[in-house]
Amino acid sequence: SKDLDYIKSKITKHENFPKEGVLFYDIFPALRDSKCLDMIITRLLSHIYDEFGNKVDVICGLDSRGFLFGTVLSLRMGIAFVPIRKKGKLPGKCISLKSTKEYGSDVLEIQSDAILPGQSVILVDDLLATGGTLNSSVQLIQFLNATVLECIVIIELLQLKGRDKVPSSVFSLLSF
Ligand code: 5GP
Repeated sequence: SKDLDYIKSKITKHENFPKEGVLFYDIFPALRDSKCLDMIITRLLSHIYDEFGNKVDVICGLDSRGFLFGTVLSLRMGIAFVPIRKKGKLPGKCISLKSTKEYGSDVLEIQSDAILPGQSVILVDDLLATGGTLNSSVQLIQFLNATVLECIVIIELLQLKGRDKVPSSVFSLLSF
């Protein structure tokens, strides 16, 4: 569609960033253009309402670009926003899990009291590559006895088949 083509035109590619051999997709040009950000959020909201109606309790955003889209969605939906962060950034009792991703590995954490047992959660990140980050993030939420309804990303890198590694359904706005 015209909207998706417009959004896609605002995603830029950088060779050998942040490491030799990696092709990096930059979402920030899309945020410089508020009309484009509005299109992204409008599309994601209509997808969420079509699929899940009012059944979502929590939007969980991934460190760090998942925070940008996640907080806007949670604000618009009138529901909680909860971050998953890299180890050592969140105060209080946390649970953690190692994740392996496209260029290195991280330990991810969530605050133990942030999501209640039985709550329904949508995970949000900017990009799905190998799926390591979302795989660990889904598991963190499941450790808290909550349900992951879906993982939502702006960009999916199809060649890496990351969605096969994610133990929940995955929705991507754009794929490359
Ligand atoms: P994965 O765990 O799926 O291999 O990698 C996804 C994570 O790495 C996401 O948190 C995402 O923000 C980051 N990432 C990996 N490659 C890219 C990229 O090309 N562009 C952007 N914006 N983020 C990336």
